Amino acid sequence: MGRVAPTATSGGITARSVGPLYWAGLWMIDLVSLGWLALRSILRFHASPDIRILVYHDIADLPPSDDPLRISTSPGLFEQQIRFLRDQGYRFLSVEEAAACIADGKIPKRGIVVTFDDAHASILTAAALVLKRYAVPATLFVPVGWIGEARFPWIRPGNGFSRPMTWDELGRLAGEVNLEIGSHTMTHQPLHILSRAEQESELDRSRRVLEERLGRPVRVFAYPFGGWDTFPRDLYPLLQAHGYVAACTNVMGANHAGTHRMALRRIRVGWCDSLWRFRLKLAGDYDWSDRARRILASLRSRDQVGVESLGNT
Ligand SMILES: [Zn+2]
Repeated sequence: MGRVAPTATSGGITARSVGPLYWAGLWMIDLVSLGWLALRSILRFHASPDIRILVYHDIADLPPSDDPLRISTSPGLFEQQIRFLRDQGYRFLSVEEAAACIADGKIPKRGIVVTFDDAHASILTAAALVLKRYAVPATLFVPVGWIGEARFPWIRPGNGFSRPMTWDELGRLAGEVNLEIGSHTMTHQPLHILSRAEQESELDRSRRVLEERLGRPVRVFAYPFGGWDTFPRDLYPLLQAHGYVAACTNVMGANHAGTHRMALRRIRVGWCDSLWRFRLKLAGDYDWSDRARRILASLRSRDQVGVESLGNT
C-alpha cells in the first residue's frame, strides 16, 4: 500500500480549513450520539464498567476557529470540565494506575484519567492552576526533542498556540502538581513509519532523557498521532522491553477489563467541546464515531488510510 507520510495534520492542526462541511458532519455526529444516548436510556442499557482517559493539548484562549478539530481548550472550559468531574464523584487515576486496574479486572466506578500531549507551555500557566485548585492528578506526555524549542514544527506558526515548555518549566510543573510523566517519543514521528532501530531509539532515548532530567521513573507512553495505524501490535513487546507498562492511543473509546494496556483508548477534548458535548463523550456516546470515520476513510481510498487514520490528534 502506498502509505502517505503525515504532514501538518498532527496536534489537531490541519493544513487546510475543514469549513462548514465539517461542522455539518460534527453536528450529525452529535445528533446520532444524542439518539444513541436516548435509546440507551429508554432500554435502560448499562455498559460494563470502564475507565475513561481524557486527552488535552493546549489550554489556551484562542479565537474561534473554522476548524472544529482544533485541539485547544480554553482555561474556562477546562475548569468547567474538571469541576464537573470532581462534583460528579469521578475517581482520578494516573495512566499506570488505570492500566493496573484494567490488568487486574478491577475497574473502579467512574475512573477517569486526565492526560496532556505535547507539553505546551500553557499547561504550566493555565492548566496547573485548575489542577491544583481541585487537587486533580494528571499525566503529561512529552515529545522530548522539542522541549525548549520556539515552536512545535507540526503546528502552523502564527495561529496562537503556546510554545513547548522549557526544561525549567517542566521541572516546576512536576513540582507543583501531582504529575505522572510519560514519553511521547523524541521527535514526535509516528512510530509505524520508522525502522525498528529508529523505533528503539525513540522509545529508549526519550525515557532515559526524561528520567535523567526530572529524576523520576517514566513508565507510560503515548503514540504520536495515535490513530488506528499508528500502534501496530508488534510495538507492544518493544514498549515493554524498554520499560513501559502502558501506552495510550488517540482512538476514542473506553477501557474495560481486557483492553490491551499498550493500546488504551482516550477521549479527545477540543475547543468546541462545551459541557454538554463533553458529557456525551464521557458517557461513551461518541465512541462509535472513530470506527465510522475509519470505515469511511478506507472506503474513500486505501492509499489515504495512512493519513486519515492519523485523524485529529
Ligand atoms: Zn502529540
